[in-house]
Amino acid sequence: MIPVFDLHADLAEAIRPSFTGSGSVLKKDWMPLMKQGGIAWSAAASFFDGSQNWEEMQECVRMVRRDIEQSGARLILSGDELKDEPDEETAFLMTVEGMCGIHENPEEKIEWLYEQGNRIGSLAWNDQNDLATGAMGDPARGLTEAGKRVIRKMNDLHMIIDVSHANEKTFWDILDESTVPVIATHSNAKKLCGVERNLTNQQIRALAQKGGLIGMNACEMFISDDPAKRSAANLAAHARWIADIAGVQAVACGFDFGVYYGADESHNLLSPEQTQNFIEGLRKEGFNEEEIKDIAYRNVLRFLRNYM
Ligand SMILES: [Zn+2]
Repeated sequence: MIPVFDLHADLAEAIRPSFTGSGSVLKKDWMPLMKQGGIAWSAAASFFDGSQNWEEMQECVRMVRRDIEQSGARLILSGDELKDEPDEETAFLMTVEGMCGIHENPEEKIEWLYEQGNRIGSLAWNDQNDLATGAMGDPARGLTEAGKRVIRKMNDLHMIIDVSHANEKTFWDILDESTVPVIATHSNAKKLCGVERNLTNQQIRALAQKGGLIGMNACEMFISDDPAKRSAANLAAHARWIADIAGVQAVACGFDFGVYYGADESHNLLSPEQTQNFIEGLRKEGFNEEEIKDIAYRNVLRFLRNYM
């Protein structure tokens, strides 16, 4: 089984309903599925949709951190500690999806998020906030001045910037502003599926030219506009498209597993234990075994060793 590094999983939302503070929800409900599917490293996202204040953001981040600590799994804090050989259990990388609770003193808040263990962050979810404009915000609005300060702070700390939920203007502003490559943790190719958050060819090329990564998103509506074409094989077609126009080195995994996927019967990539269906799809798309390892985990390990 080829191990996989999943750059985006909505694990705060998965932890929250059963979280008591003693015992780990990840260990009980998620790590067995991840092991079954070969997910050796997984992001654990704290998710903020635009309605949370700073105290609520802190509460969520502390919950994720505590659950990982109680799981006994490794919390990934630096690129140096990443080995090609996975651990026995899935290792976790804390990430932040949206920063709507940050208003004043953005540098201090970013420092706090970093100290808690977060190593990847997006400035906005689909909302528009004091820092940036997400996919559903005003198309003419991008990064704010406070958002630019956040980018500089994240660059200084070696905290990776995620552009997956950015609107186009914010995407280009971030590419200009960041001194290091960025990641779209869970976005596909707009040419194959027209959903707002997928990336245009121009965005894919620019992101890859800068050395960035794009994590393939398994969520149904990001794979195809046609409900009959939403499966691991159809997602592998996005990987093929992106590899052909920007290189295999830009392709990664960001399946967005969580608690909200529908039980679409034709879709065979709804949950972590189904991850190897995507690997099989990559084979059918004609990727060789070395390329598949690059997409599955080596591109992410290389990126994090260089920039985290
Ligand atoms: Zn998302």
